[in-house]
Amino acid sequence: PAPNKQSILDELQRGEVKFLRLQFTDILGATKNVEVPRSQFEKALSGDVTFDGSAVEGFTRVEESDMLLRPDLSTFLIYPQFSREEGERGRVARLICDVTLPDGTPFGGDPRRVLARQIERARQLGFEMFVGTEPEFFLFERTPGGVGSTVTHDKAGYFDLAPIDKGERIRREIVNKLLEMGFDIEAAHHEVAPGQHEIDFRYAPALETADRIATFKFVVKRVALEYGLLASFLPKPLENVNGSGMHCHLSLFKGGQNAFTDPEHEYGLSQTALHFIAGLLDHAEGIAAITNPLVNSYKRLVPGFEAPVNIAWSTSNRSALIRIPAKRGNSTRAEVRMPDPSCNPYLALAAMLAAGLDGIEQRLEPPPAIQRNIFKMTVREKRHHRVKELPADLREAVDELEKDEVIARALGEHVMDHFVAAKRAEWRQYSATVHQWELDRYLDLI
Ligand code: GLU
Ligand code: MG
Ligand code: MG
Repeated sequence: PAPNKQSILDELQRGEVKFLRLQFTDILGATKNVEVPRSQFEKALSGDVTFDGSAVEGFTRVEESDMLLRPDLSTFLIYPQFSREEGERGRVARLICDVTLPDGTPFGGDPRRVLARQIERARQLGFEMFVGTEPEFFLFERTPGGVGSTVTHDKAGYFDLAPIDKGERIRREIVNKLLEMGFDIEAAHHEVAPGQHEIDFRYAPALETADRIATFKFVVKRVALEYGLLASFLPKPLENVNGSGMHCHLSLFKGGQNAFTDPEHEYGLSQTALHFIAGLLDHAEGIAAITNPLVNSYKRLVPGFEAPVNIAWSTSNRSALIRIPAKRGNSTRAEVRMPDPSCNPYLALAAMLAAGLDGIEQRLEPPPAIQRNIFKMTVREKRHHRVKELPADLREAVDELEKDEVIARALGEHVMDHFVAAKRAEWRQYSATVHQWELDRYLDLI
């Protein structure tokens, strides 16, 4: 049965929970918490806890700073104990919240709300989007003083087994914690680069998956810290090896049935799937700033490291931005390989859903699938196949986002304004920085 206020109060009592975290996400994807003690549990569950929104990046102006946290009761969970001291301080539970203005109207700068709006738009067309995701991350050493580094603690590679893979123990511990929290984990393995790992979770409705990604990052970082390591979701922490992606497997369901499958059609894909894929490809440049939001994100999207560069789709090869995995029936889905784990999961799923739905509404047709390695194609061949490239850097991506009216509308004015302003500032700061590369390359020569 769905949890209600009383059942949660009972669970909090039974679990001897001392603190309740009211969690939400800011526009740039950082998870925020307002933590309340036992005396405030009742008030928190009633959605009566306020906080000062002006203190949160990209939230509000000072004059409208009071915000309310309205918990989504279905997100209730008691955190596992991460360490002995923590156990002694008392158990902590959390609820993910929607953010509203004091009069209860949804707040335009709440990313969870942005996703909820696209989910509603899909529902009106008869669809529900499911998402499975494959976040990758690195485990790095910390110095004895606790400062992070980019030194990896192992030299293992893809799917390697212990004893080479020292990270295996930590990864297993992460998976255990996630299982305790009710996650469905499909797989966990070492990735291609040394120190790089991946944990895949089972597909679920889009909002649930976005909530899980936010929780997942917290758990990974927390467990790594327990072992004295740094877990990083930075898309490209090391040159010359693979970066970290967060492939998203998207599917639409209609009346409980997968709406992407059609055994009669070429590739076993329905017309709906083809329109959706076409929409994603059509808006790929516009959504890049959302799915790949850092200056660093664009250092992952270069040839040679299993990350996409070209806007194309394929039923077989991994050089394309969208790959259709072989499984059909209810597992029919599009794997979007562009997103990286630094994205705001709510905005990223909202942007991809908006793109796909636009394809359906406009009945867009995708270009022919490309079954060859695109990295081996010549410029002429690419032009012939209508293969465009993703934005080369954050600045270009933000320009493309501003040009894309469908995505801008999906994000809403508040999120667009704050996101674009923050990313332009980030880019300006980066371009004004003199990097080591420039000194190495030019200092002596010029
Ligand atoms: N690490 C690769 C990326 O940046 C993906 C490797 C894989 O296919 O899992 O997207
Ligand atoms: Mg992977
Ligand atoms: Mg994948």
